[in-house]
Amino acid sequence: MMLSEAKCWDAVTARNAEKDGQFYFGVVTTGVYCRPSCPARQPLRKNVRFYESPGEAERDGLRPCLRCRPLAGRADDAAIEKIREVCAYIQAHCDSGDGVTLETLAEIADWSPFHLHRTFKAVLGITPKQLLDTCRVSALKTKLRQGGTVTAAVYDAGFGSSSRVYENVDKNLGMTPGQYREGGKDVAISYAYAKTPLGLLLAAATDRGLCFVQFGESVDDLMKELKNEYPQAKIAESRAGRREMDGWMKSLTDYLKGEPAVLDMPVDVKASVFQLKVWRYLQTIPLGEVRTYGEVAKAIGDAGASRAVGTACGANKVALVIPCHRVIRGDKGLGGYRWGVERKMALLEGEKKRYTSLKR
Ligand SMILES: [Zn+2]
Repeated sequence: MMLSEAKCWDAVTARNAEKDGQFYFGVVTTGVYCRPSCPARQPLRKNVRFYESPGEAERDGLRPCLRCRPLAGRADDAAIEKIREVCAYIQAHCDSGDGVTLETLAEIADWSPFHLHRTFKAVLGITPKQLLDTCRVSALKTKLRQGGTVTAAVYDAGFGSSSRVYENVDKNLGMTPGQYREGGKDVAISYAYAKTPLGLLLAAATDRGLCFVQFGESVDDLMKELKNEYPQAKIAESRAGRREMDGWMKSLTDYLKGEPAVLDMPVDVKASVFQLKVWRYLQTIPLGEVRTYGEVAKAIGDAGASRAVGTACGANKVALVIPCHRVIRGDKGLGGYRWGVERKMALLEGEKKRYTSLKR
């Protein structure tokens, strides 16, 4: 297990050589990563990130420092040079679907696949596959931050077929490793609320997309919920005239009034890989249709996971836009809804009506 960030920082400020090999630190302003004992000028704390292995620093696009040479001693210099070439290739090609194989990488290094795999792991602490998967997830997160829909981002990041590729992602990785918006730190969130036919609705968004759309009894209750979700964020009421938020709020309320509205807003959510997989699938369920928990589990390639699908639906923070209300129980019973079964029923009724009138 890695040292705490505070302990790591102590070791960096003390240039403590005893901690060499236990962790690495990266400096985002210079783009390099170092051993704790690096003799170079010390960076500001806010520009430093800590890593358990050099591979994780490489994943963030950092290069090994030329002063302290964090990879030295793990293999000879020629081998390290080859490994870095392989890393660069992975990073440049991670979004090309299935184009990156161990065989292609072995050719670049002019080694056997076996030797490449072993040396790569020995030098960087992770396998080529793990670097590839984490690069893909980073690419995915970048796309999500840029405000694309989850669906588009999943494909753009090189996840050709959603269910299969998600299974390939390192199970421990989740969508929120380390620094990714823990508690919404340093994130500005603006919110707006409105009365709708289904009750009070509060929507909140980062500058990348909606992170919260929920029904509630009072603005106070909903604000409590929002702050609970993002305790570190700077939360402020959306100033009227922030066009995006105004537009989203209008679409949501129109939708609930049964007026024409498309809910394809960008979403910026914290999610585990499994949750993202479920939520992404929910966004593909057409208006007017429903799926059972079991059908969703099967569709995402995890037939035994219908209970976990139910849990993921219940954990959805962005109502309507991620349409968890379109998932029902296997016996065609409605199943639960985070915001009340009556609302779920009303939503499904409304969508059915709208769907039928569309077909006419
Ligand atoms: Zn260094």
